[in-house]
Amino acid sequence: MMNVQENPLGPVMGIYLCRAADEDIKRMKVASGGAVTALLLYMLEKDLVDGIVTAKRTKGLEGQAVVARTREELLRTAGNKWSIVPFAARIKEKIEEEDLKRVGIVCLPCQAQFFSQMRDFPLLETDFGERIKYIVSLFCMGTFAFEAFLNYLRIRYDVPPSAIEDIRLERDSLTVKHEGGELRLPIKEVYSYLQAGCLVCTDYTGVWSDISAGSLNEERGWTVMITRNPKAENLLRGAKEEGYLEIRDGSHVMGSVMKGAKDKLARAQRNMMTLL
Ligand code: SF4
Repeated sequence: MMNVQENPLGPVMGIYLCRAADEDIKRMKVASGGAVTALLLYMLEKDLVDGIVTAKRTKGLEGQAVVARTREELLRTAGNKWSIVPFAARIKEKIEEEDLKRVGIVCLPCQAQFFSQMRDFPLLETDFGERIKYIVSLFCMGTFAFEAFLNYLRIRYDVPPSAIEDIRLERDSLTVKHEGGELRLPIKEVYSYLQAGCLVCTDYTGVWSDISAGSLNEERGWTVMITRNPKAENLLRGAKEEGYLEIRDGSHVMGSVMKGAKDKLARAQRNMMTLL
């Protein structure tokens, strides 16, 4: 059983800096390098999976499960960035509804735990668990889904929910992209609007996933990717050999990722203390 308190990054086989080799993807994903999209494209085009599934933010803070089976669908789904919401049940429903037999899931650490446990410790869910081929988790400091937060943005900044295009939480700030531009708010201002579960969540990178991915300010244009098992290593190697990914060693950023993980763990511990 994984113990994030003892090992905040979970099992690590390799840590890399990756970016898409495909110029179209790179152009779309300037800040991150588009490595997640390129890796998913490799899975689809090399027939390693039937589809990619995620729960994506639509307009405002609404979320829905989406499936991509082709390059066009994947690029449309990814948009400017994967903007994932923590709705594991919607992903599960979508996989069953579309009868996908082999899927790659892009998700958050809390969802990665849910899917990994279904895959690795199946109870009555044998059939469903077998369908999950790859779990890619994005680094996560928390998500917002409260009506109160939407009201706050509307009243304080005159940004209605329908105008919100993306919300991105980093270590000390929150960026809200909306139709009229971008708001950058200090974390202290919005802290009380984080989902309650996020305040006590201890997993920053997605220790239950096959591959974790996230970006760091110090390596803009590249995505940090952590492989957690031989299957993930093979996947990354294959994507490189087939010309989908550029990969370089990322051991020098291990400290920064660990810092994010420890910060999140400390936040959870502080919040747990106040609940007890
Ligand atoms: S902070 Fe934790 S509980 Fe909240 S969305 Fe991220 S992974 Fe899920």
